[in-house]
Amino acid sequence: MSLRIYNTLTRQKELFEPCRPGRVGIYLCGPTVYKSPHIGHMVGPVIFDAIKRYLVYKGFEVTWVVNITDVDDKLIDAAARAGITMSEMAEKHTAEYFDALKSLGVDAIDHFPRASEHMPEIIAMCERLVETGAAYAAGGNVWFDVAKDADYGKLSNRKVEQQEAGLRELEGAGKRNPADFALWKAAKPGEPSWESPWGKGRPGWHIECSAMSTKILGETFDLHGGGMDLMFPHHENELAQSESCTGRPFVKYWMHNGLTRVRTKSNSGDWTVDDMHESSGNAIRVHALLSRHGPELIRYLLLSTHYRRPIEFSDDALVEARKGLTAFHRLFERVERLQGGKLDDATDMDRHSAEMMQGEHEKFARDVLASKMRWLESMDDDFNTAGAIGVMHQMATEINRFIEATSLAQEKQPELVTAVAAAAITLKRLGGVLGLFRAAPAATSGGDELLGKVMSLVITLRKDARASKNFALADAIRDGLTKIGVTLEDLQGETVWRKA
Ligand SMILES: [Zn+2]
Repeated sequence: MSLRIYNTLTRQKELFEPCRPGRVGIYLCGPTVYKSPHIGHMVGPVIFDAIKRYLVYKGFEVTWVVNITDVDDKLIDAAARAGITMSEMAEKHTAEYFDALKSLGVDAIDHFPRASEHMPEIIAMCERLVETGAAYAAGGNVWFDVAKDADYGKLSNRKVEQQEAGLRELEGAGKRNPADFALWKAAKPGEPSWESPWGKGRPGWHIECSAMSTKILGETFDLHGGGMDLMFPHHENELAQSESCTGRPFVKYWMHNGLTRVRTKSNSGDWTVDDMHESSGNAIRVHALLSRHGPELIRYLLLSTHYRRPIEFSDDALVEARKGLTAFHRLFERVERLQGGKLDDATDMDRHSAEMMQGEHEKFARDVLASKMRWLESMDDDFNTAGAIGVMHQMATEINRFIEATSLAQEKQPELVTAVAAAAITLKRLGGVLGLFRAAPAATSGGDELLGKVMSLVITLRKDARASKNFALADAIRDGLTKIGVTLEDLQGETVWRKA
């Protein structure tokens, strides 16, 4: 099976062949750290975390870089308003960004380069571009000369004339063409600045990413990601600078994720869907969302949509996601009760499993393995996590059906229980490749191991009471639990508990 990736540059799915066999370099544009992160900032990291895990699962050695833009106009303004320095402002929000990544389980990023720590590389790149004639200096600024770049616009499919329209405000700063963009900006009084061959100044945003990606991943690397909104001008300009500087292709596969949208009901009762944006006042802060819903649900919701489509946040979407995720956790709990031990200790189903099994569970094993193949096909089809999660739901249904069809809960049959556990752990590990199912959900265990043990003792006592026909005591246990917010459900001979 071979992986295909939709490449924005060629507008088609292409067979994935890394620049260096067995190794993959990924660069994802990170945040400008002038405000606390909102959930839109987490979409790229969660998607690429799943992508990196999948590539590692397929045997690649992956280096993943996410930059921190800590030198920027917005940051200078925000720091001035708060009465602190730009670096203090950046430090504060970088720490918040790291916290948000950690709480969402995004722990596979290898490098977080900061623009402020890469001035020599940035300046060297500007100098090289001036030397080759791709850029020119004027009044302490350095401009990229768009007219010298014959294939400018190839990523976003725009013509130079289209870009000119939006950039009139920069005319008069020594530019030859309104479409030319800044590689280096002369410092204004009181602004943070660095020494350069053109006097004190600071870099433009685009050159920061070109310099840092090249330093860590090389002149040509495999995957460059970012939101659709970064395609133009940011990525177009990164591409133009880098290729003009090195004379080589910059990136093999450009990947752009859909933007985050918020669906809300207005006072008049109409539904509206808007892009989530700081300036629209509808940005949902990460910590607020996580404290209400927990990290796994948010990760699940983000991965339930194909990455190139917009991701919609609404109460309904969160409720749906909760239902979907709970179905998996209920299945895992069910299988753990059946086998009387931790699912993580079970052995996966592999291609030998079906041969080893006979009768009705040979068919079951073949079905599970066929589902696993479909899961791999989904992921190989441009990292279709939504399709992969759909396949996982089918697997969960197959396993539940098998448990019911074989009346497994009532009469424990060791071979069948082993087959079911193998199927469930296969499913759980596929989820693990997406970064799911790493901890038991708080809703059932409360994250408290002791509580789990106490509850299984209470359930056993209630079962004993019923077995000895002391129904009054059994009912008293159930009613008492209901009063303190714990519900019991009797499912095919087993009893599960849940916090209300
Ligand atoms: Zn960037």
